[in-house]
Amino acid sequence: MSPSELRAEFPIFAARPRPFHYLDSAATGQICRAAAQALLGFEAAARANVKRGVYRLADEATQAFDRARAEIAAYLGVRDAREVILTSGTTFGLNLLAHGLVGRLAPGDEILLSTLEHHSNIVPWQLAAGRVGAVIRAIPVTAEGRLDLDRLDEVLSRRTRIVSVTHVSNVTGAVSDIGRIVEAARAVGARVVVDGAQRVPHGPLDVEALGCDAYALSGHKLFAATGAGALWIRRDLAEELPPFLGGGEMIRRVSFAGTSFAAPPHRFEAGTPPIGPAIALGAAAAWLAGLDWQALAEAEAALTARLLAGLAAIPAVRVVGPTGTQGRLGVVSFAVDDVHPHDLCQLLDSRGLCLRGGHHCAQPLHDALGLEATTRASLALYNDASDIDALLEGLEWAIRRLA
Ligand code: PMP
Repeated sequence: MSPSELRAEFPIFAARPRPFHYLDSAATGQICRAAAQALLGFEAAARANVKRGVYRLADEATQAFDRARAEIAAYLGVRDAREVILTSGTTFGLNLLAHGLVGRLAPGDEILLSTLEHHSNIVPWQLAAGRVGAVIRAIPVTAEGRLDLDRLDEVLSRRTRIVSVTHVSNVTGAVSDIGRIVEAARAVGARVVVDGAQRVPHGPLDVEALGCDAYALSGHKLFAATGAGALWIRRDLAEELPPFLGGGEMIRRVSFAGTSFAAPPHRFEAGTPPIGPAIALGAAAAWLAGLDWQALAEAEAALTARLLAGLAAIPAVRVVGPTGTQGRLGVVSFAVDDVHPHDLCQLLDSRGLCLRGGHHCAQPLHDALGLEATTRASLALYNDASDIDALLEGLEWAIRRLA
């Protein structure tokens, strides 16, 4: 598929007047045609609740929902689709895990996070840790905005019960070495959770081979609808975890004397799930799985290199992540001398450029970098060189006006 054919698979590019340079895919990806059609197809012509009705329409909805589960499992490299829980997104998945995993910790047990984390992978653990007296620690970052795994020994201890880290930073684009983290965590008997929100839009993966115990993602970042996501939990762990929310369809038997719960994944899917968005997520995963990801990864690396080189040539700009393309994806944040990111983003918007300015829900990382806020450009498979060039030209123009 050529770049223009690929772009044509995303309806927004035909719908928006030009110039339109969407460089905020780390916040949300644009929906692909396959997902948009699946969503509308379900809501307009095939809608029924799932897991309950016996009439044909309801049965078809349940089958479509379970097919989505299987498509997401295939994208993640999960062999048994029953290990995939359909959620409302990464935040929900991480809260579910924090609630279930931390409940059994003793006071003084430790939860190891990292300085790179999004607030979604910090706050749920803090809330849960506060209830049991567990202690939160964090893997430090290098000056390049990568996890400093050479200092893992300083923060990992015999008391570490849980390690929860991001696969890819939503600020610096750095890819975490999950294999090394898993090895160290296993040596002290800790469970490993991975926040996959920023990794999944960059191609299919094999979470079982990564070696972690759980992996969370959001559908809206995977070019599907808002409102649905997925959480993979290794079977042995899922069997041990208590329910997160109580309600319909997560039970075996309810009585006032006591309630018994369904097996995973249903135990974790209380109430009516986001059926249409989940079906859209399955459709996006199935469509994405058929693309040539080697070519797409090369194209993304070339665009990232073009962006990094262009930024390096502007004296007022300082990239806060890795300055090379090794071990990083196309999420690039930078600071501009004497210019606030919000002013910059507003000016760039007048040239059709959509970028994010702020702390990107990663305040501990910004604290560690000594910055209040940064400007972020994040790439996805529909971006091309014209987006990068428009950004670089726009940046020079905006800096002349603001600095
Ligand atoms: N983790 C990371 C690394 C993210 O980038 C985001 C979204 N910016 C989240 C978690 C939270 O995702 P959501 O808001 O879709 O639950």
